[in-house]
Amino acid sequence: MDKRDYYEILGVTREADEGEIKKVYRQKALKFHPDRNPGDKEAEEKFKEAAEAYEVLKDREKRSIYDRFGHAGLEGRGFKGFSGFDDIFSSFGDIFEDFFGFGNKQGRRSRARQGRSLKYELGLTLEEAYHGKETEIIFNRLDSCDTCQGTGLRPGSSPQRCSTCHGKGQVIRSQGFFQISSTCPTCHGHGEIITDPCPDCGGGGKIRVERKIKVKIPPGVDTGSQLRLSNEGESGINGGPRGDLFVILYVEDHDFFTREDENLICNIPISFVQAALGDTISIPVLGEKKEYPLKIPNGIQPGTILTVPGKGMPSLQSRNRKGNLYVKITIKIPEKLDTRQRELLLEFAELDGLKFSGQKKNAL
Ligand SMILES: [Zn+2]
Ligand SMILES: [Zn+2]
Repeated sequence: MDKRDYYEILGVTREADEGEIKKVYRQKALKFHPDRNPGDKEAEEKFKEAAEAYEVLKDREKRSIYDRFGHAGLEGRGFKGFSGFDDIFSSFGDIFEDFFGFGNKQGRRSRARQGRSLKYELGLTLEEAYHGKETEIIFNRLDSCDTCQGTGLRPGSSPQRCSTCHGKGQVIRSQGFFQISSTCPTCHGHGEIITDPCPDCGGGGKIRVERKIKVKIPPGVDTGSQLRLSNEGESGINGGPRGDLFVILYVEDHDFFTREDENLICNIPISFVQAALGDTISIPVLGEKKEYPLKIPNGIQPGTILTVPGKGMPSLQSRNRKGNLYVKITIKIPEKLDTRQRELLLEFAELDGLKFSGQKKNAL
């Protein structure tokens, strides 16, 4: 289907300013509002069309893209318009409430909405992050009350029409020439009040329940990684779907390994003799019981970093890939020497052509 020109939809010229666009949109939205035209498909289309036109023309950047490149220009930049009424109301809800007082009318109130999503923070050791793990978490969430099926009414009773607003959910007061409508303070826009509340939830329609679920943490997660568990949040409103549960992970510091993304870093001290002569040493590797042989080349300098490929953290993206282990070599200098060691070092110094003062004085 060909899309109509946004200016044509709103019936304004291309030069129309923001104020004019807003004014015209308000008129269209009021005319085609679904609460005023229940079941009218054509009005519904016009309402959506006007909302999309307004969404673009009210925004300086989107409008200039549209002016230069048309519909294709916006699509190329990912603009999709609205998927439905909920989308429109969540973008412009305040406009409807402010200007039309439609915000809480029956039609909107009974619209199904997704329940609130929840967050759960979970700490892991570096080993657990390496292997991944399955664990059980316990949290509280608000669920729809079983006794009243979320209505808040004592079973068998019915709600009373609000006498303040006569069931409209809105009260209108006059101010000069204007009539201002606002949410009814007695029923908070519901149009009805519960006089005989459900004994289990006290009329709120929700109860706090403890929930236990198993969570599977994949290998390779890092601090800030999130797991999304669909439909584990709070129950939906008016039959809408549940919210989600987000498990947010943080990985504790490790005594020996430091992590940098998929790589691990550790410090290994060796003796100055090993550094000079070279050696093969055994180093611990995360996630493995056996130590790993690491070859130290002769003449290695302090601070040298040796790379052990594939002995880092598992990659979250690819099952078969692992980061590297970087071993930073530090060199231990003996703090005490016995007579024989001292003699040998002095001899070494002599062979090396090293002269230093005070050697006699410091002799043992
Ligand atoms: Zn209840
Ligand atoms: Zn009321």
